[in-house]
Amino acid sequence: MADLSHVSEAPQPRWSREPDGACHTADGGVFGRSADEPVAAARAREEAAKAVCAGCDVRVECRRHALAAREPYGVWGGLTADERRALFTGDPVASAA
Ligand code: SF4
Repeated sequence: MADLSHVSEAPQPRWSREPDGACHTADGGVFGRSADEPVAAARAREEAAKAVCAGCDVRVECRRHALAAREPYGVWGGLTADERRALFTGDPVASAA
């Protein structure tokens, strides 16, 4: 399990992916999931979002925010919700069905 002792439990100032994030100008559809999205499509969309994050100038700040705020949904800082959850729980990330 990753050492997350540096991630504060204290309330964080509100931080937004926009306007500095690469997702501000990218296809925003890759960052949001509809309730009825098939798992394989969700994984493909998440990979597209992670590719956007890979070139983002605020990736570290974004990831830090998402971990501290326990953002429950979406790709933040190049990590999916499942990947962030796995960092805290040590559980393996579910693979695409
Ligand atoms: S790291 Fe990803 S989600 Fe965060 S601001 Fe950048 S592009 Fe957006």
